[in-house]
Amino acid sequence: MPERPHVLVTGLSRGIGRQVALQLAADGYVVSGCSATGGTAVETLGERLDQAGARGHLAACDVRDAAAVEGLVAAAEDTAGPLTGLVSNAGIARHGPLVTVADRDWQDVLDVNLGGTRNVCRAVGYRFLKRRAGAIVAISSVAATRADPGDSTYAASKAGVTALVTGLARESGRFGVRANVVAPGYIGTDMTAPMTTRARSAAIEGIALRRFGTPAEVAHLVAFLLSDRASYVTGQVFRIDGGMRP
Ligand code: NDP
Repeated sequence: MPERPHVLVTGLSRGIGRQVALQLAADGYVVSGCSATGGTAVETLGERLDQAGARGHLAACDVRDAAAVEGLVAAAEDTAGPLTGLVSNAGIARHGPLVTVADRDWQDVLDVNLGGTRNVCRAVGYRFLKRRAGAIVAISSVAATRADPGDSTYAASKAGVTALVTGLARESGRFGVRANVVAPGYIGTDMTAPMTTRARSAAIEGIALRRFGTPAEVAHLVAFLLSDRASYVTGQVFRIDGGMRP
């Protein structure tokens, strides 16, 4: 019997990451991963993964910490064998105009979104290159190409993710490693929950399908890109935004 595929998902306690983990478990993967704080949310997900016989190594790990990420990846492979996929999903948003945004917020957003993606792609990508196999999906945002007012910092971090991961695809293709970027629009998670009713209505006006997306809808695209059905797809950016104007 062939070995089961094994995926690492960052930021799997909530929102998109959680749904990606559940979708991949349903698709037959063993799922390892982390959130920043771990705790009950990750344990509850672990119980769901247990029911599917899909639990790998689940832990708290701050993706800003390269050494901790290396430890996470090593522990995941010790627990459930070589990784075959990576979903770099952990991310945060801080809002405020460029001229007034706090240095701390600027640094946090860059460190988690861009630095964290670099740390996980490096730790896992190195192993994939050595084995000449593996698929990576990183979550960017439509903001990477069009920042709304107050989103310049977040947009810069996500544009960095797109550049980093499409660059990685160019570096890794000849070793049989694929890397793609998923750029969601507005998705109903804790990240968009604080939006005012007015901001939400204004956003929906700009979406052809006139609604926010769901984490499950993003998870389907991620699962496709990770799978062998996407074996000739690499270095691409896929918007999933219900038809927003670019
Ligand atoms: P949520 O806020 O719902 O969840 C964020 C997840 O990332 C949590 O699991 C959180 O862990 C984890 N996380 C945050 N910081 C760190 C860190 N330093 N180290 C490890 N894990 C961390 O976010 P979404 O599900 O909405 O977003 C997921 C991704 O999708 C993000 O990259 C986001 O930028 C992107 N995105 C989201 C959109 C949306 O509309 N929701 C639109 C476009 C892109 P913990 O629970 O421990 O805090």
